[in-house]
Amino acid sequence: MNIGVLKEQLGENRVVILPEHVIQLRKIGVNIYIENQAGINAYVSDAMYHEAGANIVTREEVIQQADLLLCIAMPDHLTLQKLSSKQHLIGGLNPVINKQEINIIQQQGSSAFSLDFIPRTTRAQAMDILSSMATIAGYKAVLDAASHLPRFFPMFMSAAGTIKPAKVLILGAGVAGLQAIAVARKLGAIVEVFDVRSAVKEEVKSLGGKFIEVEGAREDASAGGYAVEQTEEFIQKQRQLVHDHARMADVVICTAQVFGKKAPILLKKQTVEEMKPGSVVIDLAASTGGNCELTQNGKTVIHNQVTIIGKSDYPSDMPFDASKMFGNNMINFLKLIISKEGCLSIDFNDDIVAGTCIVYQGEIKNQRYLQLINN
Ligand code: NAD
Repeated sequence: MNIGVLKEQLGENRVVILPEHVIQLRKIGVNIYIENQAGINAYVSDAMYHEAGANIVTREEVIQQADLLLCIAMPDHLTLQKLSSKQHLIGGLNPVINKQEINIIQQQGSSAFSLDFIPRTTRAQAMDILSSMATIAGYKAVLDAASHLPRFFPMFMSAAGTIKPAKVLILGAGVAGLQAIAVARKLGAIVEVFDVRSAVKEEVKSLGGKFIEVEGAREDASAGGYAVEQTEEFIQKQRQLVHDHARMADVVICTAQVFGKKAPILLKKQTVEEMKPGSVVIDLAASTGGNCELTQNGKTVIHNQVTIIGKSDYPSDMPFDASKMFGNNMINFLKLIISKEGCLSIDFNDDIVAGTCIVYQGEIKNQRYLQLINN
């Protein structure tokens, strides 16, 4: 069997597997075709892949040779239009946003597995790209905030006087939010946290954060651990409390998201206008609309001396380790669909395989995908 690795589109520095993953796949007799310069922005040269046992070829050849085509993000239309009915595309395809691309894959009669649809179960943890990339985002968001803030994070007592510790407010305590709490605490900040899932309260506290509860949140056990959309009444109540705490904060890290939906607006323009001059908002939910009303995806906006950074692609800024983690997740997933002898063996009775498959030989297989795009 042949596996192909595509170079990502401009602006994405990660690569889907590293040479160490090539070695693992070669051991089970799989041939690897890597597009030339695929790893260059992640500091991996063609020579390193070659040494690990991969063939370095053109994009055309990768597409021609591959039974399984691996990628970080959904490839461009031209690439998809070259897929055959025998090929399987595997990556973080973000199918709800990329419906048009899923249609092309369907028309080609090809198959697509999206690792961002992996069920959030214990067995699937080792393949969970959302968690591994959110870990990086939470870490980098705090470091970015610290470097933009005109103040220290930790308390300082020196001959030049005492500096108070920074106050960090974190909206959303999922994987990114929890990582952000841990890093902000390590840097010495005081951390306050909002979430609608009461289950995270203990985790927040154990990391040294203060959990601020808003009563009346909707929770749904059937949502697979995810938050559900809240009523307008709840959001209003929450915004008022966020307003009161954001005014006192030096940094706000926004991570609140609802899978497959627009992110809730928790930080209104009026709140930003009452924040301290020099404070920093990092909005990790920017690609789904942002938690701050003033966020612009991919841009830094300065409003009333408050810096608002709308950034959902921090993992691309740490491409080596991000590729290593993504590659580990990918290899663990591939182990489910490749036999020890190196042959493709797709078992739809496996909940991870079934939950991740969006299209199989031109047919939409995923009920969750259909529900999300039809709502
Ligand atoms: P996410 O990115 O979908 O959302 C981030 C956080 O925002 C969540 O904690 C969510 O509750 C919160 N949020 C949503 N609306 C909000 C609002 N109005 N106000 C405040 N906070 C709000 O979350 P994620 O990091 O992808 O994690 C989703 C779920 O999956 C969590 O329950 C997490 O514990 C679980 N999970 C399970 C596993 C596993 O067992 N394999 C792995 C990772 C995550």
